[in-house]
Amino acid sequence: MSRSYHIHLLATGGTIAGAGKAGRTSGYKAGSISPDLLIKTLPPLPDYFHLTVEQICSVDSNEINDVLWLSLARRINELAKSDIDGFVITHGTDTLDETAYFLNLTVKTEKPVILTGAMRPSTATSADGPLNLFQAIHLAAKPEAFGKGVLVCFCDSIYSGRDVQKVNTYKTDAFNEQDLSCLGYMRDEDCYFLNESLAVHTTASCFDISSLTRLPRVDILSFYAGAPVDALDFYASKAQGLVISGTGSGNYSAAWKEKIRELADRHIPVVRASRIGHGIVSRDPHFESSENCFPSYTLPPQKARILLSLALTVTSSYQEMEQMFRKY
Ligand code: ASP
Repeated sequence: MSRSYHIHLLATGGTIAGAGKAGRTSGYKAGSISPDLLIKTLPPLPDYFHLTVEQICSVDSNEINDVLWLSLARRINELAKSDIDGFVITHGTDTLDETAYFLNLTVKTEKPVILTGAMRPSTATSADGPLNLFQAIHLAAKPEAFGKGVLVCFCDSIYSGRDVQKVNTYKTDAFNEQDLSCLGYMRDEDCYFLNESLAVHTTASCFDISSLTRLPRVDILSFYAGAPVDALDFYASKAQGLVISGTGSGNYSAAWKEKIRELADRHIPVVRASRIGHGIVSRDPHFESSENCFPSYTLPPQKARILLSLALTVTSSYQEMEQMFRKY
């Protein structure tokens, strides 16, 4: 007799739980249907699956914030001590990549934690939610998914929570790992892993969120041709750290460089990221001329923001923060 698998579904809302006019892909309300209804849309699961469900929240993922992230990570850390074999999180696609990275750094389990969602609401023609959820549930029970960090299962592909990004505004194949492509593929319920992220995650991560109620505020600023330098002053008056979405390989003007140097006196770390989405932002003496500034390496701005915020919970050393950007 085959063993049974206890998979726990944590629903947060999003388009996968969206409903609207029959057949239409637009003009719907995200997070409208309950997880119980959501699982009724699934192709039949084998008897050896024991699926339990829990509604964490029911929101469009643009409403997800640090308070929700902290409670979700804490909930998984608590449930991971039970007989649950794996977790599936249904989530809106707009910030799914951010939640996946946050959990990759903060959940303390090697059990599979799989995020999924949909680009089309449950009421659309050819809704993509049922297949994505079906595959995510199967992936959560696979030994191959154990110890790989938080994963995303979407449109027949498997992605690492570390590198996944939303790359399309409306098509169902909406995620990718940019230059790295994906970790592997799903075909029906079977998984085929080809790659693995080498970045440190989950049980090996140094971040402990058990007693945090909020995350330090870190803001993202975009540099663009003619961007005013007083934007830096404004954000520096609000946040404990900044991420700059720069041009090219993390570039900005001489006036911004000068202002960032001034922010060193105010103990504000500044991470130099890029708006490009491919390649790496590495050390450059022209930019890292003040100790408070260091590159994001391969993290895009929205993920560099998460890592800097978590880094600020454990250190005030710029060198240690930069090491974390090389490691995580
Ligand atoms: N706005 C929706 C959300 O992020 C989009 C989606 O889920 O695809 O919740």
